[in-house]
Amino acid sequence: MSHTLQAVRGMNDILPDDAETWEYFEDIVRDWLASYGYRPIRTPIVEPTPLFKRAIGEVTDIVEKEMYSFEDALNGESLTLRPEGTASCVRAAIQHNLVAAGGPQRLYYYGPMFRHERPQKGRYRQFHQIGVEALGFAGPDADAELIMMCARLWEDLGLEDVALELNSLGSAEERAAHRAALIAYLEQHRDQLDEDGKRRLHTNPLRILDTKNPLLQPIVEAAPRLADFLGEASRAHFEGVQVFLKDAGIPFRINHRLVRGLDYYNRTVFEWVTTRLGAQGTICAGGRYDGLVEQLGGKPQPAAGFAMGIERLLLLWRECGGEAERAAPDTYVVHVGDVAQRLAFRAAEALREHGFAAVLHCGGGSFKAQMKKADASGAAVAVVIGEDEALAGEVGLKPLRGPGGQQRVALADLPEAMAVLLYSEQNGEQGTDDGGL
Ligand code: ATP
Ligand code: MG
Repeated sequence: MSHTLQAVRGMNDILPDDAETWEYFEDIVRDWLASYGYRPIRTPIVEPTPLFKRAIGEVTDIVEKEMYSFEDALNGESLTLRPEGTASCVRAAIQHNLVAAGGPQRLYYYGPMFRHERPQKGRYRQFHQIGVEALGFAGPDADAELIMMCARLWEDLGLEDVALELNSLGSAEERAAHRAALIAYLEQHRDQLDEDGKRRLHTNPLRILDTKNPLLQPIVEAAPRLADFLGEASRAHFEGVQVFLKDAGIPFRINHRLVRGLDYYNRTVFEWVTTRLGAQGTICAGGRYDGLVEQLGGKPQPAAGFAMGIERLLLLWRECGGEAERAAPDTYVVHVGDVAQRLAFRAAEALREHGFAAVLHCGGGSFKAQMKKADASGAAVAVVIGEDEALAGEVGLKPLRGPGGQQRVALADLPEAMAVLLYSEQNGEQGTDDGGL
């Protein structure tokens, strides 16, 4: 009995109809990132496991239960498929001396991430993130700019129902004072904590505030607030971010329980959430992580960033009516007969040389069958080559969408005739040159 091979559970194929939407979205995103001066960085998908343990924190969901780690069979080194991008980005910046040599850096990465979670809508084992890291920026202006960037992207995409939640985690010392108060409080409710909660009570109590267990909500709701432990500098920084956001007209809600699931954050943290995607409502999350560079062995360096989940973003985009135009070639070249086929190759190449997208029919068949394919391709014009045309060194041109009959032109005149036809076809759209937006 044959056994059908399947993709790994929670890891999705993105088929052409969807992949075109992804590419369309990626074009928008690239323009958006460039408009804020962000430059791409590409790092390996596999990193030494200690990188993530050190960056994300030992007592976190990701490191405790979600990482795909394995031993390199050749040298026994423990490697991990990256569960997120910040650690790699910072590791690369340190390794290549980016900030020391070039000053503050605005960087972005894009690609697949891997977490061993229970697959469901908006939650996968391989998913994609776009992340932005502003390295070497200390002030609230950088935090505010990151948030404003997101707001602009939501607007560019026409997303609705996306709300901003904001909090400050203060400094390490402030968190330590809060932590002591939190542990004392949680000790009193020890019996009601779940297994994770009990385990984290003394290792990482802040993380208990981040719990998804609804039974713990009342306890967590009444817990001591970090906000009440913030010192002057942290409060001023947080105020600063809020002033910039108010200036920009970006509404936000301060959520005292927003602590983020990764250990490296301090001061500003934020999440963009929607009510339209059920439980997987966070489409983008980030914040400041001033200690991470030093923690990974670099010279101390302030930094802030965010990451967004592309699958969730695209789900929401579709919910809001977003759709990519189907990519269609300009022309489809049909041909019957050996001489015609050889001319068809030349015709298609001549068109491509002039910047037209041309699909050359392959596989033979009657004119009728080939014209059906031409029509289905979405092309605006068919190039038709029969024995007659071929012997004369000419090709037929037939508009497939608009009015007008078939005309014949010499091969040498084909690109120009094509331009005239496409121009008159797309008259209304000429000059928009919107680069896919
Ligand atoms: P969640 O609370 O939903 O598990 P998280 O806090 O673990 O999210 P981050 O590590 O902050 O997520 O990642 C940033 C963004 O990446 C998330 O807001 C989300 O949009 C997306 N994301 C995270 N995990 C997944 C996943 N398993 N599948 C799809 N998208 C994800
Ligand atoms: Mg998670």
